[in-house]
Amino acid sequence: MAAAESDRDLSSALCSEFLNFSAKDTAARWQQAPELQAELYQHLAVYVPRIFCLGPSGGGGGGQREELACQLLLLAPLEWLLLGAEPSAGLAQLQENNQPSLLCGHVFKVGEPTYSCRECAADPTCVLCMQCFLGSVHKEHRYRMTTSGGGGFCDCGDTEAWKKGPYCHKHEPNNRDTSQEDPVAQLPADMVVRSYSIFSIILKYAVDMLTWEQEDQLPAGLEPPEKGDTYYCMLFNDEVHTYEQVIYTLQKAVNCSQKEAVSFATTVDRDGRKSVRFGDFQFCEQAKSVIVRNTSRQSKPLRVQVMHSSVVAHQCFALKALGWLGQIIQYSDGLRRVLCQVGLQKGPEGENSSLVDTLMLCDSKMWKGARNVYHQLLMNSLLMDLKYKKLFAIQFAKNYRRLQTDFMEDDHERVVSVTSLSVQLFTVPTVARMLMVEENLMTTIIRTFVDHLRHRDLQGRFQFDRYTAQQAFKFRRVQSLIGDLKYVLISRPAEWSEQLREKFLEGLDAFLELLKCMQGMDPVVRQVGQHIEMEPEWEAAFTLQMKLTHIISMIQEWCATDECVLIEAYKKCLCALGQCHSGLPDGEQPISLSLAGHSVETFRYQVSQDKVSIHLPVCRLLAGLHVLLSKTELASRFPEQLPLGELSPPLLIELPLRCLVLCAQVHAGMWRRNGFSLINQIYYYHNVKCRVEMFDKDVIMLQAGASMMDPNHFLMIVLSRFELFHIFSSADCRKRYRDGNKDVVQQNNTLIEEMLHLIIMVVGERFVAGVGQVEPFDEVRREIIHQLSIRPMAHSELVKALPENENKETGLERVIDSVASFRKPGVTGRGLYELRAEWTKHFNLYFHHYSRADQSKAEEAQRKLRRQNGDDSALPPPALPPLCPLFASLVNLLQCDVLLAVEGAVLQWAVEPSGGGWTESMLQRVLHLVGMALLEEQQQLENSSGDDDVTFNYTSKITRPGEAPSTSGSVLALLESLQNAPHLEVHKDMITWILKMVANIKTMRERSSCSSTVSTSQGQGPEETVRDKDKAERKRKAEMARLRREKIMAQMSEMQKHFINENKELFQQSLEELEASTSAAPHSPPGAEVCVSEVCVGPRRSGGGDRRQLVTCILCQEEQEVRGQGRAMVLAAFVQRSTVLSKNRGRAPPNPEHHDALFMHPDLAFGTHTASCGHIMHATCWQRYFEAVQLKEQRRQQRLRVHTSYDVENGEFLCPLCECLSNTVIPLLPHTHTLHSADHPSLEAWLQSTNQQIAALHAAHRKSDGEAAADREDLAAPEGFRVDFIPPNPFSSSVREMITTFSTATYKVGLKLNPNEQDPRVPVMSWASCAYTMQAIERLLVDEDKPLFGSLPCRQDDCLSSLARFGSACWTAAPPSTTHTHFIRLFAALVPDSQVENTPCILDVDMFHLLVYSVLAYNSVHCLDQSGRAVVDSAHLHLLHLITVAHLVQILLTSTTAEEVSMDQDSGGSEEEELTCLLYNTLRKHLCSVLPEVSSGWHLWRCVKAGVLPFLRAAALFFHHLNSAPPPAELQVAGPGQWEALCSYLSLPCNLLQLYQSKHTLLEPLLQGWCCHPAVKQTLQGGGVIIRFPRESNRLIDLPDDYSALINQASSFTCPRSGGDKSRAPTLCLVCGCMLCSQSYCCQTELDGEDVGACTAHTFTCGAGLGIFLRVRESQVLFLAGKTKGCFYPPPYLDDYGETDQGLRRGNPLHLCPERYRKIQRLWRQHGVTEEIGHAQEANQTLVGIDWQHL
Ligand SMILES: [Zn+2]
Ligand SMILES: [Zn+2]
Ligand SMILES: [Zn+2]
Ligand SMILES: [Zn+2]
Ligand SMILES: [Zn+2]
Ligand SMILES: [Zn+2]
Ligand SMILES: [Zn+2]
Repeated sequence: MAAAESDRDLSSALCSEFLNFSAKDTAARWQQAPELQAELYQHLAVYVPRIFCLGPSGGGGGGQREELACQLLLLAPLEWLLLGAEPSAGLAQLQENNQPSLLCGHVFKVGEPTYSCRECAADPTCVLCMQCFLGSVHKEHRYRMTTSGGGGFCDCGDTEAWKKGPYCHKHEPNNRDTSQEDPVAQLPADMVVRSYSIFSIILKYAVDMLTWEQEDQLPAGLEPPEKGDTYYCMLFNDEVHTYEQVIYTLQKAVNCSQKEAVSFATTVDRDGRKSVRFGDFQFCEQAKSVIVRNTSRQSKPLRVQVMHSSVVAHQCFALKALGWLGQIIQYSDGLRRVLCQVGLQKGPEGENSSLVDTLMLCDSKMWKGARNVYHQLLMNSLLMDLKYKKLFAIQFAKNYRRLQTDFMEDDHERVVSVTSLSVQLFTVPTVARMLMVEENLMTTIIRTFVDHLRHRDLQGRFQFDRYTAQQAFKFRRVQSLIGDLKYVLISRPAEWSEQLREKFLEGLDAFLELLKCMQGMDPVVRQVGQHIEMEPEWEAAFTLQMKLTHIISMIQEWCATDECVLIEAYKKCLCALGQCHSGLPDGEQPISLSLAGHSVETFRYQVSQDKVSIHLPVCRLLAGLHVLLSKTELASRFPEQLPLGELSPPLLIELPLRCLVLCAQVHAGMWRRNGFSLINQIYYYHNVKCRVEMFDKDVIMLQAGASMMDPNHFLMIVLSRFELFHIFSSADCRKRYRDGNKDVVQQNNTLIEEMLHLIIMVVGERFVAGVGQVEPFDEVRREIIHQLSIRPMAHSELVKALPENENKETGLERVIDSVASFRKPGVTGRGLYELRAEWTKHFNLYFHHYSRADQSKAEEAQRKLRRQNGDDSALPPPALPPLCPLFASLVNLLQCDVLLAVEGAVLQWAVEPSGGGWTESMLQRVLHLVGMALLEEQQQLENSSGDDDVTFNYTSKITRPGEAPSTSGSVLALLESLQNAPHLEVHKDMITWILKMVANIKTMRERSSCSSTVSTSQGQGPEETVRDKDKAERKRKAEMARLRREKIMAQMSEMQKHFINENKELFQQSLEELEASTSAAPHSPPGAEVCVSEVCVGPRRSGGGDRRQLVTCILCQEEQEVRGQGRAMVLAAFVQRSTVLSKNRGRAPPNPEHHDALFMHPDLAFGTHTASCGHIMHATCWQRYFEAVQLKEQRRQQRLRVHTSYDVENGEFLCPLCECLSNTVIPLLPHTHTLHSADHPSLEAWLQSTNQQIAALHAAHRKSDGEAAADREDLAAPEGFRVDFIPPNPFSSSVREMITTFSTATYKVGLKLNPNEQDPRVPVMSWASCAYTMQAIERLLVDEDKPLFGSLPCRQDDCLSSLARFGSACWTAAPPSTTHTHFIRLFAALVPDSQVENTPCILDVDMFHLLVYSVLAYNSVHCLDQSGRAVVDSAHLHLLHLITVAHLVQILLTSTTAEEVSMDQDSGGSEEEELTCLLYNTLRKHLCSVLPEVSSGWHLWRCVKAGVLPFLRAAALFFHHLNSAPPPAELQVAGPGQWEALCSYLSLPCNLLQLYQSKHTLLEPLLQGWCCHPAVKQTLQGGGVIIRFPRESNRLIDLPDDYSALINQASSFTCPRSGGDKSRAPTLCLVCGCMLCSQSYCCQTELDGEDVGACTAHTFTCGAGLGIFLRVRESQVLFLAGKTKGCFYPPPYLDDYGETDQGLRRGNPLHLCPERYRKIQRLWRQHGVTEEIGHAQEANQTLVGIDWQHL
């Protein structure tokens, strides 16, 4: 209270200040002052504390008054002084003279869309704002769209950022020479002088204030004239404490409500600080101590300061002043440059003492809000001025180490740290290069990085497992340095200077130091006996590896661009590796191995016993550089410059080989006891994120080593490291093993397989440029071919399977179309790429990037494909590209003696059927190796001019008999003997292929030795023709097989027919059953007479004959007849409230207690919809089932405290057959058959008797109410009408019970009330559900262009029939007087009755609801008539006629508006038109002043016809189901003649106006009564919502084609509750188009005593609890139902590859897919959303756990 008082005082005080203050005079005074700074400071000292921070709300976010005062008293005089003129005019002048910079520089808001061009951007950080993008050439390119996280600016106009198209239309330079001029020269000289001094003073002031650390003092000259005891308790934000902790603490410390605490916490989180208490020092100090005490328990306490209000005030103004500077310089590039100069001017302390330096160095001490403001200013000034950007970059680089260290100590996110500006500076290639040369930036970054990773082991390697939480936190922060390094390296130099070489190599030295710390880290030792006790930490090391992967690749790419650098780098790397290797062979006894006549020395080492590490970055960098030497051919051109002689191949291969052996042993199950951490490491070693610089390079290193060694020696070392040497070196050893331990045998088998696979890879992996003679895109293409060989894949799957480069590109797009064809997606699923047939021949089963699972899937797929094509099943190795010279000798591995011995051994074992001694995979790999060798020989033969230069002679070697230790025959002989071995059937085709190749090569050799002139292409001939013949043979066999199959099928079907004939009765029966249970309505049998017109209502109605209906219970399978007196049968049903048909979403939900449900307003705002899956059960079976479900759920909740997808307490259950969500059951009732009678009273007679009946009922009710009846003359009750008659209940008790169950359910759901059987609205709600459901289905049929009858699924037909029959019977469960009263009131709406109150006007009644209610209610009145003369059917017909007339009137009253009338056509006018006119004019007579005049009826008749149609269609549906009347053929198809058929079916004249015309004397009084209702006039004159007919179907809102339009819309959406804040999760309601601030504390509201998020709250007003939303940032559709149910659904937006992008991770442009959107719309219109949620939650239990209500 006191605060508010003082506020008012102060504002009036300020008002007088305003009046007396002149900005112009003040500026003039300052101009004269000798010492401007002193003068200005004095002004600020006086005014600032009087404007800012005057009460509890101070310290951030001042009101309008504060803004105004600040502008008028503080900023305006500054502007006068600066401009020397009236500010607005002066600024306009300034802008006019300005030559604007060509940079766009638009700073991004959080969530704003940004665009980058995949083709033209220099790197992925180069982005455009939406406006620039739309005006750029990149719109037509392959672009990427993302949402900004805030900060950063548009790079439009920066020529270095774009390879082409750097300017959009708007920023295109018109004259060329602007960049060279000094913009300051454009300004008047005096203004330059003034601006220097003003900018210096203001900037200095702001910097001083923002970095000010004293809480109670101010800088000299700013001390306020009087200083009161007013303080703030200022709370600062950190990233340690959670929202909840802060909220809890605040409630305790400053005694505020939860809501206030939430608001404080939100502001602290956003601005970095917030005053939580205002008052005297003591008061604030007290709050501070409570906060500190409460938060210091687990971690360091929250930061709190008690600050004097004047200090806070000056800090507030300092921020305003910085904002002001930022604005002023937007007007003039000259002023911008002046500010830049002021900012970077060296201070008195010399180096690094400029104001900008001061700000940067204090960055980590400032609060978030202050940082944001000055970062923004830096972006607007220094970064927008190309000259000063460089100067600033130098200062930034000079301070780099210090800034990063500060950042490491600070606990704020990186986006609010000044270090995040690095992306703006380092990504400019020229700046980055300059910083590298002049400031040695590369080295600085790497050294800073290494400095912050201190923990090492004895060998100096990183040791992450000893990290404390604090160090781990730091480790995460330090990773941002790698990002900086990436920026620096991202663009490779086109040319090198001597300095650049020097600095790069210096940086490389630092980098190698880093890699040396990683080499060998996290070593593992095989655990034997016991399982490891604790899983060792491995993730940190892999994180580091992953982050460095791109850096390592980029360093190699830099090296590749300069020969000198490459040579030097190679030497440095080799030297570093030498240091790592020192001590490797120490203390090891060399051992000697010999096999197949060769021997080699190596040292004793076993992976299974000694330490081994996966981390070998130094080796792998060397492997990469080695490939570059080969690719650039440096090795062959300057061998003397390279230390190739120093290389020791056995040493080079040693560590990578160990690593690969480790993987093989893990596969073989030898490392099981080492736990999951090792499995994970192996997984990542091969994973696409790491493999390029891990696994791939290890293979390359083996290739490099092998190419420099004797192949026999290489293989012996490999055998030895695989610990398999003894198996192949002695003949009997194998035998011993076979009989030995089964585990060991199996392990060895796997190891042999892995080793053979490794040899295949070492020889065959040639798709790296430099190893094989290929281009980079060959490599990508091969990856794609092999992915697609597994199965067709979506674009995103392919992208995920390919390694991305530093630009996040895979190269996929360049090759995909050449190898695959695209298959578009349907309404579900995604687009897929399929490998084209001609590329399958490149398939290699032993592709090195296949996992074992991939491999077997691919094998299966490829074999299937070959079978389909009628080919043999062999999958021979593909032809390979030739090797580069440096690797050329690798091929000799294939024909070396050791490998031949290994092959011979395996083939020898395979002679015997497998008994654990060998495996099929082993044999398959050997056959593959043999195939590779043969292909190699064939290729060499083809490419040679003569036989003499072919060094490869595998065919002759395999014909040599085997040597010791294998005593068997030659490899070839073994293959020939295996060809027909029955146990090798699977491999037969492959062996055949091999033997054919051998024969082929022999012919080639023979021929070329006979005559060397024979062309090689002919040599290929025989093999080809052999193959063709083979193929033809196979085709023939396949054809025969097909014929055989067909014959068998024919025989079988013959047998079936026979069987059916024999069991005819049985089949007939089951068919009947099927018919009975699927559709209750007996359709006219085909071929029946069509000339008899079908009628569904009135005495002439057809159908409804006695027909027994047999149904089967899905639970007990028992058959049962549907009878009123029998056991009740029920349909599972789901009742829900609905707003799908609503024409007025603004209407508030009805008050459940007092809502008069009897009349439905034509806006249909809230309805009750019933759906059923059509499954029938006994009522008793269902009850037992439901009780069981209840019991199970109770037990489950006690045990697990988890919920199911359905709410048992609310009566929900899943249909036992189809699991469809249900919440009640509808009883099946027989058709109540009434006798046809000829006696059809006229309307007049019927009206009269009904009036009499009603009067009698009135009288009876009055009597029962105890009123004296004497004052009124009792009308004679019609003959035979007995008001006290109580009809016998036609239903058994079990049916009665089910009737109550369903009525109560519609009542409970429809009105949201607890069940109350006594409420008179109970029967009304079941009628309502019947009417609403029919209307909804009628709309659905129209919207989907389906005929009225015959197109609904059976379950819906069943549901409608049971609803209609239920409606006509449910009165039996209610007291008779209740339904009588309802009928009286309904009837009064048609025939005005003075005794009935609260009758709504005709415009406020939905006529279809009225029809359904009155027809269904009439039964209860009719049964009192015991005369036997009247039939219920005539009453139905009269009611239909009356209500149709009422509807016609309703339409005529609402259809005309002035402009439509003028469209009249003057035609002669049909009878319909004339009669319409006539009726209209009668209405005008009653209401002349409100209805416009109409001259002809053409337009009116058109309106009437269109308007009444939905009513007629719904009525036809209703009577069809009520009376089981078969529909006419015309209504079962779409087409012409619908109107006539409809009218005749409803027993109405085609000219509906006849209804009125023929009885107009009788109806005229009614017409008058309707029109005279006062509400009619009032509504038509604008006093209410006019609903026009026909009511259009509701649609979901229109969505834009381009998704970025939505993102843009959402980015400008602010939270409606927290004053202009950006919403974090903007969410669009697809029903009404409302944007909401979802999933956030700020917009939570209370609903029925619970806190709910904005979406849930919205569903209750917009969708009666049901909502369909689009989460814009996530690109995800959200379905919500009630508070506890929800699910996510794929969005209707697809990229060009036919895929959605949930979470917007890929960034491909997204476009609306109308079919998918229509699918969502259909789901909504069909009331299927809740069911969809149910299915989703059943399928995915995690969805059940989500707090949907908080969204
Ligand atoms: Zn822009
Ligand atoms: Zn632009
Ligand atoms: Zn482009
Ligand atoms: Zn049953
Ligand atoms: Zn079902
Ligand atoms: Zn909000
Ligand atoms: Zn909505």
